[in-house]
Amino acid sequence: LANILHVSGSEVITKLIALGVMASLNQLIDSDTATLVAAEFGVDVEVRDDSQELEALLEDVPDKPEDLEPRPPVITVMGHVDHGKTSLLDYIRHTNVTATEAGGITQHIGAYQIEVRGKKITFLDTPGHEAFTAMRARGAQVTDIAVLVVAADDGVMPQTVEAINHAKAAGVPIVVAVNKIDKPGANAERVKQQLAEHGIVPEEWGGDNICVPVSAKTGAGIDQLLEMLLLVAEMEELKANPNCPARGTVIEAQLDKGRGPVATVLIQKGTLKVGDIILAGTACGKVRAMQDYKGRRIKKASPGTPVEILGLSEVPEAGDLFYVVKDEKLARQIVEKRQEKKRLSESAGPDKVTLEDLFKQIQEGKVKELNLVVKADVQGSVEALIQALSKLSTDEVRINIIHSGVGAITETDVMLASASNALVIGFNVRPDANAKKTAESQQVEIRLYRVIYEAIDDVKAALEGLLEPIY
Ligand code: GDP
Repeated sequence: LANILHVSGSEVITKLIALGVMASLNQLIDSDTATLVAAEFGVDVEVRDDSQELEALLEDVPDKPEDLEPRPPVITVMGHVDHGKTSLLDYIRHTNVTATEAGGITQHIGAYQIEVRGKKITFLDTPGHEAFTAMRARGAQVTDIAVLVVAADDGVMPQTVEAINHAKAAGVPIVVAVNKIDKPGANAERVKQQLAEHGIVPEEWGGDNICVPVSAKTGAGIDQLLEMLLLVAEMEELKANPNCPARGTVIEAQLDKGRGPVATVLIQKGTLKVGDIILAGTACGKVRAMQDYKGRRIKKASPGTPVEILGLSEVPEAGDLFYVVKDEKLARQIVEKRQEKKRLSESAGPDKVTLEDLFKQIQEGKVKELNLVVKADVQGSVEALIQALSKLSTDEVRINIIHSGVGAITETDVMLASASNALVIGFNVRPDANAKKTAESQQVEIRLYRVIYEAIDDVKAALEGLLEPIY
């Protein structure tokens, strides 16, 4: 800045100190501060953000219908703890992967693929809606179909309901695996009834959800479950263009002592090749080597395929989108801009909805739906809140209760709110420590109430632009 202004560095620093900014010579300052300092020297500043022009180069180009080819569905397994998510994933892996490879050992790279009647299915290896929603909060939509595991001897439990709401908020179709049918106390009919109460209605009852009774222990019903996944995939017409520069999402990543940054990425379109220049979050580099989930070295990977890649400059984060770019210089430029932005606004997140500026956002046409997560101390209050809040929907804004439940506000509640641009309303409950921290970092508004009508009045006032600000 001093160079551009034709003054010395210490003169700029003196002005900065006068403005209350304790900066050193090689410190980044934001554009507002730079504008103020320049004005002190009688210079007008025009701020140009060329990072936007660079990011625009990464924008997805729509494909021509004739370029699209079927791709494997990507599946996430969800459900209550101990209902058999891991067992189901393991059973499917062992019977469909290892058995076909003489002495083959599957690698845990965060995802694996199987083949059923010559068609591939990709499974994400981290079960649960927490990982699913954490990815979504970063803007990544990876899962095509959710498999909801419900133990037939236990029935629908709190995390089952959470999983349903998380999958619904993402608009992902749900296939139910009624698990543990080998157990003496198993009652699949009761599970279906309970699911119906939560809006998951089995096909045989005229609903949209396929329910398959399975046992992750004996393997009963699992072939049928896989067939059903292929059927749903076909109905969803999952397609991608394999003949373009690859793009996709980082599934997991870590630093390996010998190999450096290692990332598992899921290809969502295009074909990734060894030697491609890629960019993910604030990491970039040339793909040095690729491995599939069987640990085999491969040279290219097509849509729907998970691969482990080597060659990135640093460890990206799960949920980061990756892109193939045409040259290393461009990749480095974009990464540098991103790193700069990250340093400047470590805490500033995207435009999150808050009650206070809801009305402004409605008027600007930015908000057409108000998504809410509602938590309360007892079921009666949850019901009362849902009923009263739903009634507040207007022609301009629809109120959606995307999740509700009894108990403290948890980190998962906050992540769901973040991924769905929702706010959290708590009645006679508080956020736990992790929820509080996450709400701060994700900029999710949590509103706590002790009187039901106050909560309702606030939302109503916010919808009408009459909410009194709190200071
Ligand atoms: P997760 O927490 O949902 O991943 O559940 P796990 O896969 O760890 O399973 C919890 C327990 O249930 C383990 O002891 C499993 O062996 C058992 N289990 C899982 N599936 C079945 C099943 O189909 N039948 C029976 N009898 N036990 C099962």
